[in-house]
Amino acid sequence: MDKFTSIQDYHHFLASNADGCSIAVQYYLSRIEAHSQLNAYLEVFAAEALERARSLDGERKSGVTMGKLHGVIVALKDVISYKDHTLTGGSRILSGFKAIYHATVVEKLLAEGAIIIGRNNCDEFAMGSTNENSAYGKVLNARDLTRVPGGSSGGSAVAVQAGLCMISLGSDTGGSVRQPADFCGIIGLKPGYGRISRYGLIAYASSFDQIGIFGQTVPDVARVLEVISGPDEFDSTVARSAAGIGPGRDNHSRKYRIAYFKEGLAHPGLDPEMRDTILGRLGDWASAGHTVQAIDFELFDYIVPTYYVLTTAEASSNLARFDGVRYGYRTGGQDLDLTEFYKRTRSEGFGREVKRRILLGTFVLSAGYYDAYFTKAQQVRRLLVEHTNLIFKDFDILVLPTSPSTAFRIGEKMKDPIAMYLADIYTVYANLTGIPGISLPLFTHTNGMPFGIQAMTSRFNELSLLQFSHQMMQQ
Ligand code: GLN
Repeated sequence: MDKFTSIQDYHHFLASNADGCSIAVQYYLSRIEAHSQLNAYLEVFAAEALERARSLDGERKSGVTMGKLHGVIVALKDVISYKDHTLTGGSRILSGFKAIYHATVVEKLLAEGAIIIGRNNCDEFAMGSTNENSAYGKVLNARDLTRVPGGSSGGSAVAVQAGLCMISLGSDTGGSVRQPADFCGIIGLKPGYGRISRYGLIAYASSFDQIGIFGQTVPDVARVLEVISGPDEFDSTVARSAAGIGPGRDNHSRKYRIAYFKEGLAHPGLDPEMRDTILGRLGDWASAGHTVQAIDFELFDYIVPTYYVLTTAEASSNLARFDGVRYGYRTGGQDLDLTEFYKRTRSEGFGREVKRRILLGTFVLSAGYYDAYFTKAQQVRRLLVEHTNLIFKDFDILVLPTSPSTAFRIGEKMKDPIAMYLADIYTVYANLTGIPGISLPLFTHTNGMPFGIQAMTSRFNELSLLQFSHQMMQQ
């Protein structure tokens, strides 16, 4: 098999190769093997994937119509339930746990013919920006092995970056799909809140979490979104209408009204070369007939603190279920009373970052501080949503960097959690407001690393976001 370029090209290849799916699976299995030092996969479902490929090849031979993702080789972040397969969330506390049902996205992928090839490494319970918080070791950025791939969906990003699958799914609570996509030079889409069912996704912060898609091209990502989005009786927060996005519905000539936050591009933490490159590209877009305007966003500095108050609060509640009784790991101590048993199991089973967030979340929800932190942060979130709605009355697209720098060196930020949190400045906004965002890999820094531009639209406007992205990736 030749290098993968797009699902459409792959489907052309299948049309003239009776054993095409089997050939593709073998090709990916050997690449995964050859790149095992990247640690992108926690487990590879080799025998199963081959068997499924053979059965799909058989279906084509007998004339069965191909599904939209027929034979497409997909990897899953290890927070998405795949029935009867291990599911750890990158945590020791879930070691040995097997999913007992399919996530809705998995049902939908399989129904359209996808082949699931393995599960990807990630930061523990999706908390982190470098993949260094995984209980199963760090993931290396294939572009530079001394750098992180980003996080928390680092393994899923590297799996696409290094050609170890065609598509992968991650989760994005505060940037965990867009930021690793940016660090790895691929496309990462976080759909708007309520676009994709979260049923079967391990919850981190339920009012922020959204499953996202990594791919090499915008049409591929659009096709996967079309398959996995839509209403679901198991998740009442999902919108009833399907995304209405399909290949062939692109709009190449549309002129967009594009805004960016002055405070965002002027931020002292932003790498100056990245700032100049992004501003340069915005200038090109203006010359091409789009409207590009800098707007004030005085709430900018409140974004990161609001995110960390609210997500840690939700996480402290969501993670209470990991008690050593119902799932995975339990302490080996004998004759413990119940409280001691919980304490030991959770102390041994959770890593440092997860413990830090449970403690923070418990603190902001405690009776004495609830109003000062949690209520206040909820009020700021409301203001952010209101301001955002106003922005999208006048503009189609909002643009920001995805990350203030290119991929960090391994270990660089691990000693300073605050510095790590502050690097989420550009991504958490879309999760706070529920809007869709995408990271587009447009540039290479003089340090050799990729970076891009993040684009966002109003809620439930993924169609415009993908059309815009497609247009900008063609130039
Ligand atoms: N880096 C962010 C955090 O640590 C984002 C995580 C995510 O999106 N899952 O919370």
